[in-house]
Amino acid sequence: MALRQVFEGILHEPEVFSKDEGFEFRFETFQDLKTSLVRIFGTAGRAILYDAGIEPGRRSCRRIMAVARTKEEVLRLLVVKKNRQNWGDLVIDEMDLKTKSGRISMSNCFEAREADSRGPSCDFIRGYLGGFLSEFFGEEKVMMREESCKADGASKCTFVFGIV
Ligand SMILES: [Zn+2]
Repeated sequence: MALRQVFEGILHEPEVFSKDEGFEFRFETFQDLKTSLVRIFGTAGRAILYDAGIEPGRRSCRRIMAVARTKEEVLRLLVVKKNRQNWGDLVIDEMDLKTKSGRISMSNCFEAREADSRGPSCDFIRGYLGGFLSEFFGEEKVMMREESCKADGASKCTFVFGIV
């Protein structure tokens, strides 16, 4: 099968996991998990969520890079897949491929749904996007900071990233 066909196949496949791949999780159940981590570990609980997002982000990027032909296609597939999986609506607002920095926003970020916080709260997604872009840029670590968060009253979650 030609690369193009594989790529188109991914774009058109329904984003439902087979029984051997995954399961569904309610937004409120994810918040319960997060609440427990923070209740027991405090801010370390948030660090755990951030760290837990990094490897899934890297894996996701490797899977996409195996079929996409260009950097643009990799990002396009990320946006489409996360939208289909109901993680939220990602928009790459700015990306400088030379300095490896930019800004990503996410409407309806799953981590902000059913959440109410003071300040940014999407630690798992922050780790996930950081992991994804680390792989994308071939860097040890892309730093990702959440600038504003829907759980804190913003219209969407906004992340800025760069290399340390
Ligand atoms: Zn957020």
